[in-house]
Amino acid sequence: MSLSLIAKSIKPSPTLALNEKFAILKEKGDPVIHLGGGEPKTRVPMEAIMATVAHVNTGEVRYAPADGIPALKQAIIRYTEEYYDRKVTPQHIIASSGAKQAIMVALQAILNPQEEVIFPAPYWVSYPDMARLIGAIPVPALPEDGTFYPRLKDIEDRVGSYTKAVIINSPNNPTGAMYSEEFISDVVQYCEKKDIWLIMDDIYHRLIFDGRKIINPYKYAKKFDENSKLIIVNGVSKQYAMTGFRIGWAVGNKKVIEAMSNIQGHQTSGPSVLLQKAAVGALNGIQSSVESLRVTLQNNRNVMIDLLHSFEGVKVTKPDGTFYCFADFSAYNKSSNQLSAFLIDKVQVLTVPGAEFGLEGYLRLSYCGTIKDIQEGIERMKWALDPNSPNELYIGDRKLVRDWS
Ligand code: PMP
Repeated sequence: MSLSLIAKSIKPSPTLALNEKFAILKEKGDPVIHLGGGEPKTRVPMEAIMATVAHVNTGEVRYAPADGIPALKQAIIRYTEEYYDRKVTPQHIIASSGAKQAIMVALQAILNPQEEVIFPAPYWVSYPDMARLIGAIPVPALPEDGTFYPRLKDIEDRVGSYTKAVIINSPNNPTGAMYSEEFISDVVQYCEKKDIWLIMDDIYHRLIFDGRKIINPYKYAKKFDENSKLIIVNGVSKQYAMTGFRIGWAVGNKKVIEAMSNIQGHQTSGPSVLLQKAAVGALNGIQSSVESLRVTLQNNRNVMIDLLHSFEGVKVTKPDGTFYCFADFSAYNKSSNQLSAFLIDKVQVLTVPGAEFGLEGYLRLSYCGTIKDIQEGIERMKWALDPNSPNELYIGDRKLVRDWS
C-alpha cells in the first residue's frame, strides 16, 4: 500500500498497545496483572466532575477557542504563579488535548524537517515518533556514566548545527529519576546561550518523594518574554488522575504560543469545552487529592523497591518520583521485548520492555495500581524467572505448571 514515508516510520504507541492487550485478556476472564500502566487509579477530583456536569446540563456544548477557554487560562496563570513564580498572560498559554498534544504542536511550531531534537535516554516512548511525525530527527542522549541522571555534557556532546530543541522530562518516565537542580540550571542556561528551544515536560513535577522540592526552571532563565525559548508543558492527567480528560497545556513566548494555536486550530480545534471545564475544576479545587496520591505512590514505590531488592539478579535504582521504576532484568534476558512477552505468556503480568524507552535489558514496572497487584505481580515474575522456584503456582484456582527451565 502506498502509505506516506512518515506513516511508515511511525510505530504504534507500545504503552497504548499494552493497555489494549490488558483489556482483551481481562475481557476473556484471564487473571492478568497490569504493571505496565501509566495512570493513577484514584478518583477524579469532585470539583472536576461537578464542573463538567454543570456544563453538560446547560445543554449547550459548543466549539471552544483553539488555544483554550479563558477560565482555564486563568487557572493556568495561577498555577504558573504558584509553581513557577512567573506572572504570565493568556497569550503565553495554550491548552491542548493532553500534554502529548501540547508537546506535539510545540515541536511542529519549532522544528523543520531534518532538524534535531535531543532528549536524555531512557525517554518517554512518544518523543522519537513525535519528532519523526514532522520529519525531524530524534537524538537520544544516554548518560555516559551509566546512571539515569544526565549531566550537561551528555546533551552538549550531541549538539550540532542541526540541533533545534532539547526536551527534558523530570521526574522521568520511565526511570522515576528527578534530575538535579544543578542539571536543570545548567540546561536552561546552556540552551539560552546556544539559542536552542528547551521544552520542559513537567507532567510529573508534583509527584515527587522523600521531601524533594519541585524545581522551577524559570529560576535559572535570564531571557524573558519574546526572547525566551523555554516552553513549560504540564497537565492534569497524572497529578489529578485525569488521564481520560485529555487536558494539558504549554506556557511559552507569545509568538510560539500563537504559532502552536494556529497549528492546533487546523488540526483538532481547541480541546472539548467540557474537559477544559473539568480541568478548571481540578486546578481551582481543593488540592488534597494530589498530596494523597503522592503519599500513596511513595508508599507503593517502597513496597515495589523492597520486593525488587529481594529479587535475585535484578538491579534497581530507587525512583525519586512518578509512578514508574525501571529495573535491570538483563541477567534473565538481554532482550526486553522477549522477556516482556514471556511474562505475559507464562504468568500474565504486563510490563513495558525497556527497548521502547531506549535502553535494552530493562523493564518498566508501574506502581500506580494496588499494593496487592504489585505484590502478586512481582511474586509471579519471580516464580517465572527463578529456576529454583517450585514447579507449580496457583493463581486463584488456576494451577500453573513450569514447562520451561
Ligand atoms: N509526557 C510524559 C513524560 C508522559 O509520561 C505522558 C503520559 N504518559 C505525557 C507527557 C502525556 O500526558 P497527557 O495524558 O497529558 O497527554
